[in-house]
Amino acid sequence: SEELLRKSDMLSVIGQMAAGVAHEIRNPLTSLKGFVQLIQLEQSYNPKYINIILSELDRINTIVNEFMVLAKPQVVSFEQRNLNKLVLDVVTILETQAILHNCEIITKFSKQDALLMCEENQLKQVFINVIKNSIEAMPKGGKITITIDQPDEQNISVEVTDEGNGIPAERIKRLGEPFYTTKEKGTGLGLMVSYKIIRAHQGHMDIKSVISRGTTVLITLPINHSE
Ligand code: ADP
Ligand code: MG
Repeated sequence: SEELLRKSDMLSVIGQMAAGVAHEIRNPLTSLKGFVQLIQLEQSYNPKYINIILSELDRINTIVNEFMVLAKPQVVSFEQRNLNKLVLDVVTILETQAILHNCEIITKFSKQDALLMCEENQLKQVFINVIKNSIEAMPKGGKITITIDQPDEQNISVEVTDEGNGIPAERIKRLGEPFYTTKEKGTGLGLMVSYKIIRAHQGHMDIKSVISRGTTVLITLPINHSE
């Protein structure tokens, strides 16, 4: 019966999420339809409309992609990886974006190797989401420091600190809620997906922030994941 309860909880979560996705996709679709109708009416196209259409299509694409991470039948294969290298790979992926935003990414590794059992692509997704948020929190640029440490025999920690605008205390508890965003073009899915992935690794993610000083995301992961 506990199993049944768990399943019915999951179904209601899936129902809520489906409603959320439908809602989030309907807005850009409505605007897309409007602009296509305008083009039809005017029998010519204003390049501005095309830009809006493209950015609305991008938005739908992002929402669907982020949901795919959740919806994918989880063929979880945990393998041993070096977290230092995994994080460096992510930094390389985000380098251009960081430079464009005047952000400098600094890595501090306490050991040469930080081996742990993990789902590589999913963990990369987490670090992409978190570091992107840091870049987006510093419109004038700044430093992002990523520290990897081993606080004890069982765990590895990754701390991502930025010098961004910070998050007010009353908003911290909303982080990870689906569609919670303060950005004009945000989806509010990045942290939800990240929490889910970290939970699947039996780890923790804690966010601390000081307004106008910056934000620190602390992720702790067990070295030996028990399936
Ligand atoms: P999105 O980035 O699409 O808005 P996320 O789930 O990644 O969605 O983040 C949700 C919200 O959390 C953001 O809109 C922002 O308000 C806040 N947030 C997350 N990370 C940071 C950060 N490093 N600095 C400031 N605010 C942040
Ligand atoms: Mg984000």
